[in-house]
Amino acid sequence: MLISHYVGRFAPSPTGHLHLGSVYTALASFLEARAHQGLWRLRFDDLDTPRNVAGAADSILQTLDALGLHWDGVVDYQSQHLEEYHAVLADLMARKKIYRCRCSRKDLTDIYAQTCRHQSIFSDVPHSLRLKTVERQIVFDDGLQGSISQNLATQHGDFILKRKDNIIAYQFAVVLDDARQAVNHVVRGMDLLDATPKQIYLQHILNLPTPHYLHVPILVDVDGFKLSKQTLATAVDLTAPNRVLFQLLDWLRQHPPMELQNENVDEILKWAIENWNVARLKGVKQISI
Ligand code: GLU
Repeated sequence: MLISHYVGRFAPSPTGHLHLGSVYTALASFLEARAHQGLWRLRFDDLDTPRNVAGAADSILQTLDALGLHWDGVVDYQSQHLEEYHAVLADLMARKKIYRCRCSRKDLTDIYAQTCRHQSIFSDVPHSLRLKTVERQIVFDDGLQGSISQNLATQHGDFILKRKDNIIAYQFAVVLDDARQAVNHVVRGMDLLDATPKQIYLQHILNLPTPHYLHVPILVDVDGFKLSKQTLATAVDLTAPNRVLFQLLDWLRQHPPMELQNENVDEILKWAIENWNVARLKGVKQISI
């Protein structure tokens, strides 16, 4: 048996049904993993509880299943790891890497002015927790978008790891999640490219390995807007999952042969894995549908 070291993942938020934009990313991440004989894990980013929608996780599982995108191992839920996130925050606090911030939204500028960095704020005052950023370029080589470089201190400022409402921020959780699941290849949408340097910086501070990153284009509608739950992109129509896959492969620029559209899901995926060439998306930022 071939032992593979590739571990990829898909990490949807259970805030609604999967729409075409999200299954596009899911398929890219699945194919990249399978073409490397890798594992493909599934995790629900369910920490932002006010945004969670009842039944969404089940609907996402059903959609992936109908499209033949079967994941490996148990499904992971961030909400099952709250203790871990809080323990690491306590450690970062002890190491003076983070600080309490009581600024409200209206006090905030685009780049946080570090108002609370040098204040002593008691733990019983409602506060968020911010990471101290440093003036240093974070550089990484994205699998499709080339070399990306960012100075977190000047381009983002000290960012939040735990919100004032006690919710653990995505930027922080995702770093611990990817490490916990031994993910070493992250394939996701271009909309998260800008978040990646923050995650890499956190990995450095937490002494965790940095996965390879590959950001695929996002699907945009005729007006150039990203397909998202906010733009009310409709749920994927599963009456003909094979047609959906065929369409997605076309948008992934894999040039599927016409006759493939009449095959079943398994045959289409088999073809797609064998012929997968992610380089066809090199440098592409968005695909108009
Ligand atoms: N949960 C995030 C989303 O649905 C994806 C996070 C990630 O892939 O790192 O946009």
